Amino acid sequence: MPNDPNCIFCKIVAGRIPCAKVHETESAVAFLDIAPIAPGHTLLVPKDHHATLAEIPGDVLAKALADLPRLARAVLQATGATGLNVVQNNGREAGQLVAHIHFHLIPRAAGDSIHVHWPHGKYEGTAMDDLCSRIAAAL
Ligand code: 5GP
Ligand code: ZN
Repeated sequence: MPNDPNCIFCKIVAGRIPCAKVHETESAVAFLDIAPIAPGHTLLVPKDHHATLAEIPGDVLAKALADLPRLARAVLQATGATGLNVVQNNGREAGQLVAHIHFHLIPRAAGDSIHVHWPHGKYEGTAMDDLCSRIAAAL
């Protein structure tokens, strides 16, 4: 299993650093975020150390995410939240602080103070078709 001895989440996975663990499978662990955006903010962490989505093999991620819907239902039920954001940051520019892939489950409620501001742009000319072709070709 890929492991980085200096990685905080690898240390949590190995039980060398304590956490408020809510779930564990063969391939993933879920625990409460130490600095929650909302009460019940939970992290689902694949056990294998891979930094981002760009590195983790698809089959490894698929196994690690198998219980994501079940975990989402549990977080919703336990917190009484009526909404849930699943957030996954890749790279420092995207806000990733811990370089071990993880998924945030953030409970949401009407009128809460969490604001996601993602300004939407628009494509000019052939830019949308060009990018569509380039992404498709890169797969
Ligand atoms: P990122 O910005 O990398 O997507 O999110 C990393 C998250 O890990 C942050 O929300 C941060 O609060 C959480 N975190 C960092 N260190 C620890 C820790 O030692 N224990 C727990 N439970 N959460 C941590
Ligand atoms: Zn790690």
